[in-house]
Amino acid sequence: MNAVIDNVKAAEKQAHENNKLHKRLCRLVGQAIGDFNMIEDGDKVMVCLSGGKDSYALLDILMTLRERAPINFEIVAVNLDQKQPNFPADVLPAYLEKLGVPFHIENQDTYSIVKRLIPEGKTTCSLCSRLRRGILYRVADELGCNKIALGHHRDDILETFFLNMFFGGKIKGMPAKLVSDDGKHMVIRPLAYVKEEDTERYAEVKQFPIIPCDLCGSQENLQRKQIKAMMREWEKKHPGRVENIFSSLSTVVPSHLMDRDLFGFKDIKADGIANPQGDIAFDEEPCSTPATVPGIIPLQREE
Ligand code: SF4
Repeated sequence: MNAVIDNVKAAEKQAHENNKLHKRLCRLVGQAIGDFNMIEDGDKVMVCLSGGKDSYALLDILMTLRERAPINFEIVAVNLDQKQPNFPADVLPAYLEKLGVPFHIENQDTYSIVKRLIPEGKTTCSLCSRLRRGILYRVADELGCNKIALGHHRDDILETFFLNMFFGGKIKGMPAKLVSDDGKHMVIRPLAYVKEEDTERYAEVKQFPIIPCDLCGSQENLQRKQIKAMMREWEKKHPGRVENIFSSLSTVVPSHLMDRDLFGFKDIKADGIANPQGDIAFDEEPCSTPATVPGIIPLQREE
């Protein structure tokens, strides 16, 4: 009898946790959409669905938010079938039909092109992504979509930020919203505030029919892998550090960096007006600035 009661309690607790997770995802996605004005009345949003956990979560949450939104917008799910060996072509159409969302499967054999052009053993991802990008822009035009939604989340943004800093010598992350490089499309990342850990759990809870991402046989970028491992290590040993770094992306102080295009160092003059943002000489910088990103608890700096 006790075992039955324990099981019921455990199931109730699990259901409560799952509900909290769903609410958190809706709140963070809604917040990102609002903060960056990602979706407006009358938009037609093309949601790029790869078959990975993040894009499934994106589609699912956007559909929930659309039901509650005070504005009208359309969603079209799009998958690009790149003809990779063993790609289970029936999985996504079956899922999307059941979900009742308009969708389009674009069949383009980029796999053969990449295999033909890139010598064996060399990394294929950059050509593959370039081809994919061009195709998705065309499909967005053909479907009349003015927004392209991608499933990148907070950890993707941070990994890109570190990759650019460590290997590219730039302070540059991944934009939450930006016009595409062809100047014609608005690309949005509504999961920008969402942790990967949450999309992982959500995918388990919802039992999304995940399609493995290594069908092409290419290896994940090794440097990105190392950065991911570094961030996971920080999460374990220094709770709050990753959140604070992410929060710092929303709180940039150009006068305290060294980009002369962002701040006119050459022309500044002492005008006698006190400014708390000015130089504080030998004093240590105050370090308890609260985090500004929703869902992130402000922490004191680690010693
Ligand atoms: S992992 Fe394969 S499918 Fe993905 S971008 Fe690289 S080459 Fe393309």
